[in-house]
Amino acid sequence: MSGFSVPAVVLEQIGSLPTLQTVTVTPPARGDVLVRMVASGICHTDISYMRDARVTPVVLGHEGAGIVEQVGEGVTHVQPGDHVVINWQAKCNQCRHCLTGRSDLCENIQTTAEPRVFRGQSPLAVMLNAGTFCNLAVVPAGGAVPIRKDIPLTKAAMLGCAVATGVGAALYTAHIAPGDDVVIIGAGGIGLNIVQGARIANAGQIIVIDLNQARLDLAQQYGATHIFSGQQQDLVSEVRKLTSGRGVDHVFEAVGTPSLMLTGIEMLARGGSLILVGAAARDSVLPFHPRRFMSQQQQIIGCIYGNIRPQVDLPLFADWYAEGKLRLNEMHTASVRLEEVPEVFSSLDKDRGIRPIIEFEA
Ligand SMILES: [Zn+2]
Ligand SMILES: [Zn+2]
Repeated sequence: MSGFSVPAVVLEQIGSLPTLQTVTVTPPARGDVLVRMVASGICHTDISYMRDARVTPVVLGHEGAGIVEQVGEGVTHVQPGDHVVINWQAKCNQCRHCLTGRSDLCENIQTTAEPRVFRGQSPLAVMLNAGTFCNLAVVPAGGAVPIRKDIPLTKAAMLGCAVATGVGAALYTAHIAPGDDVVIIGAGGIGLNIVQGARIANAGQIIVIDLNQARLDLAQQYGATHIFSGQQQDLVSEVRKLTSGRGVDHVFEAVGTPSLMLTGIEMLARGGSLILVGAAARDSVLPFHPRRFMSQQQQIIGCIYGNIRPQVDLPLFADWYAEGKLRLNEMHTASVRLEEVPEVFSSLDKDRGIRPIIEFEA
């Protein structure tokens, strides 16, 4: 297969650790964009692929930013040299939801027309139509969203998943109104961005729960008004106490654990919503008491990618970072080279903080 020979981190099969391999990336065809990756965040979903990838072998990575290297025929919205954030939900612009103004619900997320990454003659899958743990990524046109050039791409990478999902969950999934009280369970990369989204939406009380004190401290810097250790037994009554007994308007569960979702339901006010942001195991079940939930007029809402409109929101979030409205520097807690990624996956017990970010060699 002719193309560019580059290193990539590949997950061979479920239950194994990813390895560094040499792959061939073909030039972009019609409607594709070839991006030279500059930075890619290691997101929890990359790690959970070791237990639940739908297809293997697969090039990991989906949160990234880079510089356009080449564009395929028909691509006009970017040109070589542009800085782009990878959007792993390129919309079709043709399905019923896209045509009725709800492209966040697109039923036909775009991939490249043919595989663009090969090992020998065999095509390799790429995670979430992206595969950013590779020096080069070929994405469908909508997967490369141009942003301003004056912010570091190491920070811009986080816009593509953690920020999109977290800030989007607060603004576009929950539609937090000024003064709404919220609880955020889990203060990792996504949870901290829900905290900033809630702050930007002028939420009332922003109550954050996590097991890790360093994360809680960071949550406070990002706008949390109250923090609690997840080890505390009486969290529901603490939340009720803070809200004169009424409960909160939104609970964001950013861990993916049914028992925490149930705790979240107990914290809801009348008309409140539980937003499921954390990815639960595919076989997990949520048993809850529907009677009280019914009479309290509550909701459970699933949230993927924060219901953002990538072409509009990713450049907007880049502006907010440049203006100081959105904070990213504190989340970038470790930098690693691509070769070190397998080691990161094999030593997950070692605390690397919120976001280890792969910085590619120029
Ligand atoms: Zn992610
Ligand atoms: Zn669509």
